[in-house]
Amino acid sequence: MIQEALEKAVSEGKSVTKSGKIATYIPELSKANTEHIGACIKTVSGETYSAGDWQQPFTMQSISKTISLTLALQTAGYDKVFSKVGLEPTGDSFNSIVKLETRNPNPLNPMINAGAIATASCIPGDDPFKLFLDLARKLCLNENISLNTEVFLSEKRAGMRNRSMAYWMKSENIIEGDPEETLDLYFKMCSVNVNAGDLASWGVILANDGVNPYTGTRLIESWIARLVKTFMMTCGMYDGSGEFAIKIGIPSKSGVGGGILSSVEARMGIGVFNPSLDPKGNSVGGMRILESLSKSLGLHYFGGHTRDNLKDPI
Ligand code: GLU
Repeated sequence: MIQEALEKAVSEGKSVTKSGKIATYIPELSKANTEHIGACIKTVSGETYSAGDWQQPFTMQSISKTISLTLALQTAGYDKVFSKVGLEPTGDSFNSIVKLETRNPNPLNPMINAGAIATASCIPGDDPFKLFLDLARKLCLNENISLNTEVFLSEKRAGMRNRSMAYWMKSENIIEGDPEETLDLYFKMCSVNVNAGDLASWGVILANDGVNPYTGTRLIESWIARLVKTFMMTCGMYDGSGEFAIKIGIPSKSGVGGGILSSVEARMGIGVFNPSLDPKGNSVGGMRILESLSKSLGLHYFGGHTRDNLKDPI
């Protein structure tokens, strides 16, 4: 039943890929193929389902914010991290600068670019990217995850907006170290290659309260899993998070590479991929896949609706 629902969801996703656009503000991302679409589901009971181009690699982009936040909480601790960033959704785009000055010197949450840059600056040690990569490999259950150097260099060259936010935060003492070092770390974390299967692994670990469902080993503390999932629900889909929560209702985090990480509490992790984006930066095909799965498998956080409820307005 899950495999059937997944294949149907991917074919529904395929039908909308033309309505979006590829991200071009990072030049290297514009090489992706908007027709690529795929998804993978991993359940807490150990089954895997996949369809379409689920093995196609893409860079994590903003999905890395879930792992860098986890790492910052593990290494620097809750008080330090949340002295730098807030707990609130912004309603603004992922790369918005405006609220840094008008609302608060601190970025409102760690899922927007400014917040993730501030969070990255909290990670201690001589080689924080190595710590990140080690954790990403552990949480995606894939030892081969690695940096896409072309995307990293492309983003480093093009990332002037992120650079301005980092320097602004330096002027407010939110970033303590060298802003260029923090930016390099942030750009590298965004430029790690994964596939939909890797995201499904991280999603199922979150769904299983931080425990690897295949071995029973705890990989992250329960409170961190809860905190990350809550941010995914409230801020994970940029300024589309409210509508996504109403219509689809699955804690998710998207990235402008076209991936979406989703976690269905106590049930499954889902990774989806399609690099065709809507104006907010969310994958068009990916969101359609999740909408279809939410309806056919009853995955909405607050109670499943199914396609039988054809009279429901959403
Ligand atoms: N690396 C991207 C940026 O900083 C991440 C954006 C995203 O995926 O939302 O602009």
